[in-house]
Amino acid sequence: VTPQPPFRVVILDCDSTLTRIEGIDELARLHGVEGEIAELTAAAMRGDVPIESIYGRRLEMIRPRRKDLEWLASRYTETLVEGASDLVRILQALRKNVHIVSGGLLHPVAKVAAALSIPAANVHAVNLVFGDDGSYAGFVADSPLTRSGGKGDICAALIRVYGNAAAVGDGITDLEMQAAGARMIGFGGVAVRPIVRQRADVFVEAPSLLAVLPHLLTAGEIAEAGLDSTVQRAHTSSA
Ligand SMILES: [Mg+2]
Repeated sequence: VTPQPPFRVVILDCDSTLTRIEGIDELARLHGVEGEIAELTAAAMRGDVPIESIYGRRLEMIRPRRKDLEWLASRYTETLVEGASDLVRILQALRKNVHIVSGGLLHPVAKVAAALSIPAANVHAVNLVFGDDGSYAGFVADSPLTRSGGKGDICAALIRVYGNAAAVGDGITDLEMQAAGARMIGFGGVAVRPIVRQRADVFVEAPSLLAVLPHLLTAGEIAEAGLDSTVQRAHTSSA
């Protein structure tokens, strides 16, 4: 049975969901290895290879420096998806706990969270380690988000605390949250992955993230937030 609203927690993916870019691909471009990296990322997001088989390999090929994370943070906040800020504001006004669960890198993902007024404690991503000169020295080895099942584990932990959850994302790893018990809203406003369109409880292909709201809220919540016209506009712009 698909979990139904009201949801106490809404979990958002970052890359190609809150932002229009894939952070790892941006870092690869910066370091001139984008061709190889983009193919590995795409294969993982399609589900052709498990994420743990490419996570460390991609970072070893890129070797991002500490200062690159600041650059990526700026890229992320310049490329927020239409409606992202309004979506978070509306969910928080309805007293939802909004979390970001991302296989991306913690520092830049945390900057996205800050730009959207999501508390730092609600950010789940992968922390890198650097040498004294700012050079790449690996990632924190026990990060659940560097392996298959990581998003599912974090989602399951949130459901244990809050009772239920909905998740919004574009990639195969986001489907782990559905398996963990969340209602899965596939977001295709940036990238459409056929497996996600096929398996998600709902698939939204509008350019604005506001179009996911009707699938996250009860009719009463939509009315409480005074959203009828906003939701209507998001639907209209997606038509
Ligand atoms: Mg994504």
